Amino acid sequence: MNRLTACFSLCLLSATSVCISASRAQEKSAAPPKKIAIRAGHLIDGKSERPIANALILVEGDKIVSITPGGSAPAGVELLDLSNATVLPGFVDAHTHVLLQGDITQEEYDNQLLKESIPYRAILAARNAQIALGHGFTCLRDVETEGAMYADVDVKKAINRGEIPGPHMQVSTRAMTPTGMYGPLDYSWEIEVPQGVEYADGVEGVRKAVREQISHGADWIKYYSDHGYFYGPDGVLHSHVNFTDEEAKEIVEETHRLGHKVAAHAIGSDGIAAALRAGVDSIEHGDGLTETEMEEMARRGVYWVPTIIVGAYVAPGRAGNWIRMVDTEKAAFQLALKKNVKIVLGTDAGGFDWRELNQAKEFEYYVNYGMTPMQAIRTATTTAAELLGWSDKMGTVEAGKWADLVAVSGDPLKDITELERVKFVMKGGSVFKNDFR
Ligand SMILES: [Zn+2]
Repeated sequence: MNRLTACFSLCLLSATSVCISASRAQEKSAAPPKKIAIRAGHLIDGKSERPIANALILVEGDKIVSITPGGSAPAGVELLDLSNATVLPGFVDAHTHVLLQGDITQEEYDNQLLKESIPYRAILAARNAQIALGHGFTCLRDVETEGAMYADVDVKKAINRGEIPGPHMQVSTRAMTPTGMYGPLDYSWEIEVPQGVEYADGVEGVRKAVREQISHGADWIKYYSDHGYFYGPDGVLHSHVNFTDEEAKEIVEETHRLGHKVAAHAIGSDGIAAALRAGVDSIEHGDGLTETEMEEMARRGVYWVPTIIVGAYVAPGRAGNWIRMVDTEKAAFQLALKKNVKIVLGTDAGGFDWRELNQAKEFEYYVNYGMTPMQAIRTATTTAAELLGWSDKMGTVEAGKWADLVAVSGDPLKDITELERVKFVMKGGSVFKNDFR
């Protein structure tokens, strides 16, 4: 049945108001997509080595139509003047937790799972998605809900339907470990407490968990490869591996068979080695990466999402090896750069309070640790788009891609901290923030 016929039948059924709104919807969809021209003082497009001066970006609907150096806006098209600004592709944060509000201590974490309802946490997640967008992150890969079940799927759905503003999202729902290898722990065995992950055991068990999570809307499967980080006499950061090789391989095999990808939380060298044996697509955190593991990742194109900001932020408040791990990860980062490991920006936002830290500070660490500003920018644009399988949709400012753009006043190639002061954000052709007006 086409729309007109549907409308007609509805009128006959006496629902006149429904009929009117249906025809309005039809008018709306028939309206030509809105055109906007943006004059960028400088454009870092995500692929050119140097910025393009005085670029004119033409946007139609939610997509970029053209980029021309110089040129003038077509007659009758709204012009956004960013001639005093540097325009870049919208950023991707490839490791977030929109349903979490910081967990430096175990108590902070447990309180969220035990004292806050999932609806309450989802309301905060909607707020967090807007904070991220305001910081210039037009896309998030959210890597598990920490006990909030499948609420990330709902947040993504509400954004995609235009109910709330927020970044594009890829979500991974509940994540998994074997029984007992993730918190909240240490409660009386008489009390059944909510878990931060889905417990899954044995080859059959993990296969079922993968299928279940994907059927409920997971774009990614995330699993925890290790826990319990400690330094050996060799000076290497070690860990206890969670899954048997058979289980981990089954997680990856089944996920890939269903056309999805796998992210593995792996901090110690043992957990990283196990995740690489299983064939995962990205290593999350990766503090204890060894040279051999880096070489393997570079050879096989496995991505590393380092999340340095969260390590530096939580370390002073935590007992154990966390402070030493920040230095270990710094050394790993510097070596990985030389080894050409593909690095994608991720922050673990949610592991720190979204309101306290601007996640864009992660760029600053990358530059302090040895990347050029342009390399750092690519980790959150071009390379991130590759990891997400969305290179055809985003990551660069090019004709045909989503009109996801950010702008800053200064030159981020001279001062990377400019990216912590994003003044303009457009997502899918809609302006979310413009402090240049
Ligand atoms: Zn995380």
